Amino acid sequence: TPDVGRDFIRDIVAADLESGKHKGVVTRFPPEPNGYLHLGHAKSICLNFGIAEEFGGRCHLRFDDTNPAKEEQEFIDAIQRDVRWLGFDWGEHLHFASDYFEQLYAWAQELIRAGKAYVDDQSAEEIRLTRGTLTEPGQNSPFRDRSVAENLDLFARMRAGEFPDGTRVLRAKIDMSSGNINLRDPVLYRILHAHHPRTGKAWSIYPSYDFAHGQSDSIEHITHSICTLEFEDHRPLYDWFLDNLPVPSHPRQYEFARLNMTYTLLSKRVLTGLVREGHVSGWDDPRMPTLAGLQRRGVPAEALRDFVKRIGVAKANSTVDIGMFDFAVRETLNRTAPRRMAVLRPLKVVIENYPEGEVEELEAINHPDDPAQGTRKIPFGRELYIEQDDFMEEPPKKFFRLAPGREVRLRYAYFITCREVIKNAAGEVVELRCTYDPATRGGNAPDGRKVKATIHWVSAAHAVSAEVRLYDNLFATPQPEPGNFAAQLNPNSLEILTDSKVEPAFKNDAAIGAVQFERQGYFVRDRDSTPERLVFNRTVGLRDSYAK
Ligand code: ATP
Ligand code: MG
Ligand code: MG
Repeated sequence: TPDVGRDFIRDIVAADLESGKHKGVVTRFPPEPNGYLHLGHAKSICLNFGIAEEFGGRCHLRFDDTNPAKEEQEFIDAIQRDVRWLGFDWGEHLHFASDYFEQLYAWAQELIRAGKAYVDDQSAEEIRLTRGTLTEPGQNSPFRDRSVAENLDLFARMRAGEFPDGTRVLRAKIDMSSGNINLRDPVLYRILHAHHPRTGKAWSIYPSYDFAHGQSDSIEHITHSICTLEFEDHRPLYDWFLDNLPVPSHPRQYEFARLNMTYTLLSKRVLTGLVREGHVSGWDDPRMPTLAGLQRRGVPAEALRDFVKRIGVAKANSTVDIGMFDFAVRETLNRTAPRRMAVLRPLKVVIENYPEGEVEELEAINHPDDPAQGTRKIPFGRELYIEQDDFMEEPPKKFFRLAPGREVRLRYAYFITCREVIKNAAGEVVELRCTYDPATRGGNAPDGRKVKATIHWVSAAHAVSAEVRLYDNLFATPQPEPGNFAAQLNPNSLEILTDSKVEPAFKNDAAIGAVQFERQGYFVRDRDSTPERLVFNRTVGLRDSYAK
């Protein structure tokens, strides 16, 4: 048995292999292609594919494509891309519930023949109203005792497309007074004249999730069918189908807690609303908790896998602090991202005693803890940009950066002293006239004098203009509820800086991925960039409020 970070599901798998109940483990990740994958799916993917990897088994990617009204090829493609991006591979085992439609239909007929299913002519509303409640039993449908022959005939005609949507369903005949409402004659098939992304117009009826899921697991010889807690109440039904049909195997369903995170909603249905209502630019908006959005924001797949490992797998629902996610992202990026200098809100600095037209190249290290990342040359000249908030005309006590008459260090360069402040007609500071000390090249004074601050900068003549997109939580409320987004969204979730300046190294390096802008945070180039105009997304800031 492999020695891995254990949780109750891995314990079950290990015990089943040890006892010989199973020779190998087979899991599956079963998304419905009705949207893009999100952070919650990352937990399920890492669990299912992770178990397969750790125990030498396999994990299938199976699309639960049983509701063509909501499913699209775009989502089927995006889901595959995102699972791969996260670092997992299903090999030959790409499956679709729709591959089993013919078999599922045959099994439904089998239930009818055994007197365990019937066609119900009641509307969805009537069925809902006669389901009963937790304290009250349901009522039998007036169509419950139809003959097998009539049921077979009606079911065949449902399939043939004779009846309009919603006029009939096929139901299992189980127990209308069961304590478990899922067992009160659940719906197996509904009529839907819709175009299916894979089967086209071949079917006019579609199986329910419950009727498709366990049988698909069985056909694929899944050993451990791992799902989230909302399906716990469905487990008796899952087993009922497998016990009452001549299926090739009987997988077991296990439930774990879904991922919930503060300031975030994790459900495809809900995220669809954000996209449809235009609150975000699309599924891959960098503020979305989708894998596509997180990737575009600059979150490395490795950080996602690491986050999932940190949160673990449990049986009780809980909510993870979003700070824990940011922490995992910073951990990975701090280790890997090369350092660069960028001035987000530029303020012009002119070094009056630096010769006009002269340029020198200074050496900067790419990563303080990783010498293998080497060094680069950055140009320095008479005109520079520094960050607006690295200067204060009337600095308060604890402000040690640039101020009139004060000396600071320019990172990798020289000490400079502010001699004069130039303002525009509105009284805003638009330029600083400074002097530099040529003896401090590299950042130290031969006479041993100290400065209290080191600030970043870029050469005005060489800097590349950039748009920088600063992201914050999409929701302003820590526990957002589905619906009524307008009242809950953070109006400041996106701030766009249109006049930022980045060091020229970026111009010739289209391949560079995530970077740290020194003193600012982690950024990644957005696909909206052009050679003339770079666009960066802030992945996460440097601040680290979450304790180790
Ligand atoms: P929908 O809102 O359409 O139900 P969903 O976000 O629940 O979408 P599904 O396609 O139903 O996504 O789920 C695919 C798989 O991912 C299921 O096994 C489900 O249990 C799991 N999953 C979904 N959301 C989470 C989550 N937040 N945490 C962990 N696993 C999840
Ligand atoms: Mg679903
Ligand atoms: Mg779901």
